[in-house]
Amino acid sequence: MGNPLFDAVFGIHAGRETTFLVLPDGIRISHAGFLARAARFAHALVALGVTPGHRVAVQVAKSADALALYAACVQAGAVFLPLNTAYLPAEVAWFVADAGPALLVAAPETGAVLAAGVGPVRVATLGVNGDGSLAALADGQPETFATVARATDDLAAILYTSGTTGRSKGAMLSQGNLLSNAQVLAQEWRFTADDVLLHALPVFHTHGLFVATNTTLVAGGSMILMPRFDLDEAFRLLPQATAMMGVPTFYTRMLADARLTPEATAHMRLFVSGSAPLLAQTHRDFTARTGQVILERYGMTELNMALSNPYEGERRPGTVGQPLPGVELRLRLDDGSDAPPDTPAVIEIRGPNVFRGYWNLPEKTAEELRPDGFFITGDIGQISADGYVTIVGREKDLVIAGGFNIYPAEIESVIDSLPGVAESAVIGVPHPDMGEGVVAVVVPDGAPPAEADIIAACAARLARFKVPRRVVAVDSLPRNAMGKVQKADLRRRFAALFQPVA
Ligand code: AMP
Repeated sequence: MGNPLFDAVFGIHAGRETTFLVLPDGIRISHAGFLARAARFAHALVALGVTPGHRVAVQVAKSADALALYAACVQAGAVFLPLNTAYLPAEVAWFVADAGPALLVAAPETGAVLAAGVGPVRVATLGVNGDGSLAALADGQPETFATVARATDDLAAILYTSGTTGRSKGAMLSQGNLLSNAQVLAQEWRFTADDVLLHALPVFHTHGLFVATNTTLVAGGSMILMPRFDLDEAFRLLPQATAMMGVPTFYTRMLADARLTPEATAHMRLFVSGSAPLLAQTHRDFTARTGQVILERYGMTELNMALSNPYEGERRPGTVGQPLPGVELRLRLDDGSDAPPDTPAVIEIRGPNVFRGYWNLPEKTAEELRPDGFFITGDIGQISADGYVTIVGREKDLVIAGGFNIYPAEIESVIDSLPGVAESAVIGVPHPDMGEGVVAVVVPDGAPPAEADIIAACAARLARFKVPRRVVAVDSLPRNAMGKVQKADLRRRFAALFQPVA
């Protein structure tokens, strides 16, 4: 039976002395060297009582060893469960209680606190410099490990969703989910053994862990592993890369820097963006500055990647392209019918990429995963007559004012195009008369434009019910590690805007 994910992503590189990882200081780790490290970790996991199917929770800083631990979990048949490094011990305790891992691997700095406070779970530590108790145990182990057999439907990972509303949910991802997506992305984005990916994303999230790492590995390429996105480092290392995957913030920061030139990027084969909306203007500005056309794609922890602009053909600004091969898309209206072109509706996705359900939440799984296999994403999208999908917003971010449905993205794109506006976020907050009132939260670019001017510009281009009633200026929009605007935070902050002053 083999172990489909391990064999196709990692095992194929056995004995290859080609470069897999380049660290910022220039140190190179070969594919074979990486596999040897993974095998040692796999032995260490077994020594610590991990058996096939056990969850291994991991909250460690990004490093080559962190990736080797991921490979080790797959090889040992365990379920890799990475946790955002920003979570505090009390939050980690919640995940441990929910997932019931056999082992928690923590950073050396937090290991002792976690060991004391997370309840009955064995804790080992792993640092970024080959330190920590797990690394020490791995050091003495053999450099080959008999790969544990797994079936395509067996779980390979659980990734908790960011949980901006309600509690975080553990998305169960099978071997087949991860492998099929890696193969399709490598093929669609033309990854080869000659590729060098500039890797600046976190490795606890689907983007940096699976999209970036699995795709590069399946193609036999290499990655420059940056601990985090840092502009100086990105420009220093860019000449060695052929491809970069980023969240929109990477691109806006690069655009704000004079070092972004056609010469600095001429050697690059591909820039990919995803995990949050890339403004059409940013897409166009990037092309105007560099001649490079960013490839935007759409995915989700539960889905892996589902939609993508084409490698060859038009990469249309403001859109996420078309379904990847093997992925089916359906846009459903409230009455259950399929939406005609250019009509906002809920995106539903079916395919080998779609997750197996939420850990320990069968009712939640049943609510979102239809019996016919389509997953209800909660994202609102619309499709053009020629098949390009635009993400209009999240269902939960929909504003309902006076009974009308208002999609924030439409208003945001009008406001973002105005002079003096860097970016904006449109939200709905309680309104005594309308139910919800539309509020535009704006980050000025220079002197803040007058509220009345923004309202007038919207009134000239949008139906009356969509025009913001208030415009408020902020220094920056609250974003999470993946660059997503935290609208729930904004709604809380401005909740009382329309309440009568007592
Ligand atoms: P996550 O599970 O953290 O990857 O977040 C998935 C969510 O990110 C999706 O449901 C979308 O709301 C959003 N997202 C991902 N890619 C894009 C994109 N290219 N444009 C707009 N939103 C996106």
